[in-house]
Order: sequence, then C-alpha cells, then structure tokens
Amino acid sequence: MARTPLSHSNIVNSGEHHLELRRAVGQLVGKYGRKYFQDKVRTGGKVDELWGELGEAGFLGVHISEKWGGGGGGISDYNVVVEETSAQGCPLFSMVLQSICSPILEAYGTEELQQRWCPGLANGTKRMSFAITEPDAGTNTHRISTTATPDGDGGWTLSGQKYWTSAPDEADALLVVARGPEASPNGRHPLSLFIIEPDAPGITMHPIESVVMSPDKQFTMFFDNVKLGPDALVGVEGNGLKQVFVGLNTERVAVAAVNNGISCYAIDRASEYASDRQVWSKVIGAHQGVAHPLAEATIKVQQARLMTEKAAQLCDAGLTVEAGEAANMAKFAAADSSLEALDQAIQIHGGNGFAIEYGLADLWFIARVHKSAPVSREMVLNHVAQHTLGLPKSY
Ligand SMILES: Cc1cc2nc3c(=O)[nH]c(=O)nc-3n(C[C@H](O)[C@H](O)[C@H](O)COP(=O)(O)OP(=O)(O)OC[C@H]3O[C@@H](n4cnc5c(N)ncnc54)[C@H](O)[C@@H]3O)c2cc1C
Repeated sequence: MARTPLSHSNIVNSGEHHLELRRAVGQLVGKYGRKYFQDKVRTGGKVDELWGELGEAGFLGVHISEKWGGGGGGISDYNVVVEETSAQGCPLFSMVLQSICSPILEAYGTEELQQRWCPGLANGTKRMSFAITEPDAGTNTHRISTTATPDGDGGWTLSGQKYWTSAPDEADALLVVARGPEASPNGRHPLSLFIIEPDAPGITMHPIESVVMSPDKQFTMFFDNVKLGPDALVGVEGNGLKQVFVGLNTERVAVAAVNNGISCYAIDRASEYASDRQVWSKVIGAHQGVAHPLAEATIKVQQARLMTEKAAQLCDAGLTVEAGEAANMAKFAAADSSLEALDQAIQIHGGNGFAIEYGLADLWFIARVHKSAPVSREMVLNHVAQHTLGLPKSY
C-alpha cells in the first residue's frame, strides 16, 4: 500500500490550498532531496540551485505582499513551504531568516526601503541575515552593547559585536539590532533596527565551528565604526524592541516548521524501514515495541504541527500578544517532538541509523539547536509561567 507522507495528512493541512502548495513545494524540493543537502554539507557548498528554484517559483515570498511580487499570503502559507522543504530532507536556516526580515520591513520600513529589498526577498534574489545575539547579553536583549551613535549628519556610527549570526556570508544585507548611546530614565538603552550591507567598511566576520550539519554557517561579527546613512534605519529610532517582535513571532513559527519537517521526514523514513526490515519471522514494524514508540512520537508531532499552524494564523491576524504565546509553545513542542521522532527513527534503523546514507543522525543537531535557539526552552517556560499562568516573573 502506498503510504501518504505524514506532512500531507489532512489532520494538519488547512484546506486544499495548503495541500496544493505542499505538493508543489514537495515536488520541487524532492528533485534535490536529502542526498543533495548532505553533499552540500560535506563539500562546504551552498544550496544555490535549490534556493534559486524556490525563489523563481514564488515559494520564498508566499508571505510577502503582491505589491512587491510576493504571493500576498501570510506566515501560515510560509509555514507550509518551510515545513515541506524540511520534510524533503533539506532543513534550511536561511528560510527562517526569510521569515524575520520581510515582516519587519513590510510593517515598519519606508516605501523606499521596501522597494529596495522586498521584491528581491520575494523572489529569492536578495537575502538578509538577522543579528541580535551578543556574547555579553545572550538571552537578555536589554544588555546588548552594540551601539549606534548619531553622527550629527542624520546618520550613525555603529560599533560592537554579534555572535551566532546565521548566513551573513550569503546575505546581501544584515538586519542589526543596536542600542542608542544614552539610557532612558528606566536605565535601559532604547533599541533600533538598521539595515547594513555586509561588505561595508568596518565589518569583519569569522565562522564559528560547530556540530550543526547545515550549509548555512554561523559567524561572529565585528562592527568597528561602521558608517550608516539615514536610510539605514528601519522604522522609528528607539522603537526597535517593539518592531523586532513582528519578526520574532514569525521566526518562531518558521523554526517550528523546520523541526516539524524534520519530524515528518524521520517518521516517514522510520515507517518505511519498519515495514521492510525483517530479522525474525515478521517485519520489525509488527513488533509493538517498535510500532508504539513511533506511533506515540507521531501523535506528539501532529500536536506540534497543529500548534504551529495556529500560531501562524494568529501572526497573520496581527494578534501579536497571542501570536507570541502560541509561537513560543509551538517552537517548544516542535523542538521536543522532533528530537523524539528522530531518536525513534534512528532506533528503528538499528546500526543503519548512524550511517550518513540513511540521512537521520546528521539531522540531530539541526533539530537540537531549536531547543536552545532562537529562544531557549527555559525562556519559553518563563514566558508561559508569567503570561499564561500569571505567576511572578522569576528573573
Ligand atoms: C545554530 C545557531 C544559529 C543561530 N542563529 C542566530 C542568528 O541568525 N541571529 C542571532 O542573532 N542569533 C542566532 N543564534 C543565537 C541564539 O539565538 C542564542 O544562542 C540563544 O538566543 C541563546 O542565547 P545565548 O547563547 O547567549 O545563551 P544564554 O542567554 O547565555 O543562556 C544560557 C542558558 O541559560 C538559560 N537562561 C538564561 N536566562 C535564564 C532565565 N532567566 N531563566 C532560566 N534559564 C535562563 C538559557 O535558557 C540557556 O539554557 C543562533 C544560535 C545557534 C546555535
């Protein structure tokens, strides 16, 4: 019996429109598949052909306005694109970046900034990285020290350091969160958002060696008196924290989509293997010791996928507070359920679970990253405790 891929199940897809989108993305990415992704990782290459085709087909801009050449849909559509790309064995951090920058630009950028960047983001010919995390601030964004000092001519001079910035080597621009030089009466420095070209004088970047087997690499970035013109500012100076949340909620949905896609990939591979592999009188999938843990993992994956779809809908409805709560929960559930699904898939493959050929174990750290980033599980629990349960803030 031909098995329906888990990602296509009608439990999660919101109607025929999403199913059609999913089939089209699956067909395009399926031509490349897991082996293509693995080869790029092994050789240090980039997935330019895949990215180009996704862009040309309009998939990278399904959530961007038609005015800029996008699909005019929302993050709920983009969730399908990211998840299905990942379900084909190609989980891409670059796709997560696409979910942060264009919503912020569309919400707060000037017409000129939008004109400059949105059409390219919509068709994939332009890419943007996002830099907020700093070594001495970490999770506490209020402590960032990268500073944009007004230069007296309407522009700024930027100095500081970011780390773990994903794919700035592939980006045409960086969206950087920086603070102003003067603290507000509450002692906090107001934050602002700037768009900067990565080859601007004063910027250097160094790759961080990591165990994450992805073609998108992470870097430490140094900004040494980088000159920013007045047109570098996104939105209102000092309003950066509020503005950035438009992109952070959608980022959490996209991150959850990456992990949900990994889950679908792992569960599909595990079901196929368990149906074929025979070491006693029956295939291994006939043993409940094999089938039940996989079934249980599948239930948790479907719960995470439903929560992610709901979070995406809340983002699209512009309900920022509810979207934040749901997107955090979705990311939390997707990270945990993907690790359980992947672990179970590896277990079912016996020794083969560890072979690169079977394409499972080398997904581990991509999935695992999202237990720690872009917001850690502890900070999600803090948020739920405080905002959903009304308990005192603990930090
Ligand atoms: C592969 C990868 C890609 C990334 N890409 C980007 C990117 O593109 N752009 C970007 O800006 N950043 C990026 N990051 C950074 C990522 O967002 C951060 O690593 C993450 O936000 C955690 O910050 P930190 O590493 O400084 O940890 P810390 O803030 O130092 O936290 C360390 C630990 O302490 C816990 N902790 C801290 N405070 C509390 C508290 N109040 N209560 C309970 N526990 C607490 C945390 O949960 C965590 O477990 C990336 C990271 C990785 C690994």
